[in-house]
Amino acid sequence: MTAYEQLAPYFEKKERLRHLMSLISFDVETTAPEEAIERENDLLNFYYAEYAGINQDPEFIRLVKAAKEEGGLNDAQALLIDDLLEQIEFMEKLPMEEFVEWNRDSSKCMEVWKKAKNANDWAMVLPYFKKLVANKKEEAKLLAKPYHKTTYDAFLDQYEKGQTEADVDAVFGPLKEFLSAHLPEVLAKQSAYALPPLLPHDQDAQAHLSMDLLPAIGYDLKRGVLRETEHPFSDSVAKDDCRVTTHYYVEDWRSSMFSVIHEGGHSIQFQNWPAYQFENHVNGRASAALCETHSRFFENIIGRSRDFAPTLLGLCRKNLKGEFLEMDEEGFYHLINQVSRSLIRTESDEYTYCLHIIIRYELERDLINGKIEVEDLPEAWKKKYKEYLGVDVPDFTQGILQDVHWFGGSFGYFPSYALGNLYGAQILHYMNQDINVAKACQAGNLTPILDWLREKDFAYDYLNPKDWIIKVTGEPMNPKYFTDYLAKKFF
Ligand SMILES: [Zn+2]
Repeated sequence: MTAYEQLAPYFEKKERLRHLMSLISFDVETTAPEEAIERENDLLNFYYAEYAGINQDPEFIRLVKAAKEEGGLNDAQALLIDDLLEQIEFMEKLPMEEFVEWNRDSSKCMEVWKKAKNANDWAMVLPYFKKLVANKKEEAKLLAKPYHKTTYDAFLDQYEKGQTEADVDAVFGPLKEFLSAHLPEVLAKQSAYALPPLLPHDQDAQAHLSMDLLPAIGYDLKRGVLRETEHPFSDSVAKDDCRVTTHYYVEDWRSSMFSVIHEGGHSIQFQNWPAYQFENHVNGRASAALCETHSRFFENIIGRSRDFAPTLLGLCRKNLKGEFLEMDEEGFYHLINQVSRSLIRTESDEYTYCLHIIIRYELERDLINGKIEVEDLPEAWKKKYKEYLGVDVPDFTQGILQDVHWFGGSFGYFPSYALGNLYGAQILHYMNQDINVAKACQAGNLTPILDWLREKDFAYDYLNPKDWIIKVTGEPMNPKYFTDYLAKKFF
C-alpha cells in the first residue's frame, strides 16, 4: 500500500469531524437557544482539538512526508499533500503555548470589537487590537516563504495562493483611478432617471420571495436550507448539504434579495463540485476569491442585469405585490442598480464596491508592512474615504469598526472580494463565446449557464487561483474585462 493510500482513514476522520463541526456551527448561528451557546462552543472546541490533533500525529506526519517523496499522485492529491506539508511545517515552528495565546487574544479582540462597534468607541478596542496586530506580525514571520517580498505577502498567500502584493497592486492601482475618475459621470447619468419608490415590505413576504429566488438561480433546495442570521453566510456543510442564511430589513427589500442571490451563488458552486473533488479530499480547496467570483457572478452579473430583471420583478410581483404590480422593468432595473457615495461596504453598489475594498487593502497592507501604526488607522480611513469616494466618515461605527475581519485577525481576505469581481467579468466574456448568456437570463432559465460553469469552471476550482483562471478562460487575470463590463453597464 502506498503512503497516500495509508492516509485514507485520516482523511476520512478529518472529513467527518469537519462535517460535525459545520453542523454545530450552523446550529450556533441559527437555532441554538441563548443559554446553550456557550456549551455548544465548548463542544466545537473539543472537536477542533481532535481535528487539529491529526495534523500533529507523528504517524500522520510521517505518511504525508512519505507520500510527497513517493510521488505518483494525481494533481488534486499533489495539491492536498503540499497543503498538509505547509500546515505541518507551520505547526512545527509554532510553540503550542503561543498558538493557544494568539487564539485567545483574537477571540478577546473580537468580543470587545462587538461592544466597541455598538458604542462607537475605538479606544475601547484599541489595546486588544494592538496586541492582535503584534501577534499577526509574528505569525507572518513563521509563514514567510522565499518568494515573498513583503510581510503582507504571507497573509495574501493564505487566501490566494501564489498571489503577491505586487500582483494585487498592479491590478488595484489602475482600477482605483478608473473607478474614482468615472464616478461623477455615473452619478450624473443616474440622476436622469426617476427611481420608483422604495417601500417597506414585511419579513414574511420577503421570506416567501427568498424561497422563490433560490430555485430561480439554480440552487437545489433538496440539498440545502435557508435560515435567518444577522450576517448572511453560506456553508458547504457536507456533500449534498449546502446551507444559506439571510437577514430581512423591512425598509429595504433589496438587502435580503441580493444577500440570498449572493449566498445562493456560493452554494451553487458547492452543490456542483464533481465527485473527483470529494474522492480526492479537495472539495472546499477553492480560494476565497474563487468563491467570491461565483457569489458575485450570481449577485451582480446575473442578478443585477437588465436581462434577468423581468424574472426578479415577476417574483416581487408575486410575493411582495404592492408597488411592484405597477412598476415597469426599467424602473426596477434602476432601483436595483442605484449607485451612491456610501460608507458601508456590505450595502454598497456594484460600481463603488471595489473602492471600499481597495481602501481596506491599502490600509491592511501598510499596517502589516509597518508603514502605518494601529493608532493612525481611523484617520487614514477617513482620508481615503474622502479621497476615493468623496464621503465624510462621521463616526467609528460607520468607519473603521464596521467590518469584523481585522478584529478577528483576518488580514489578506479583503482583496478576495474585488478579485472575485474581476474574475467574474473575465468568465462572462468567455462564457459568451460558447453560449448566449443574455438569452438564458431573459428566458429566466439559467440551465445553460449552470452547465457551462459545472463543466468549465467548478470542476477545476480546487486549483490555485492563477492556474484555475487560465484553465477556465485560457488567459491569466485580465482586469480589462471588468472595466469594460462596468463601462458598458454604467457609462
Ligand atoms: Zn460571499
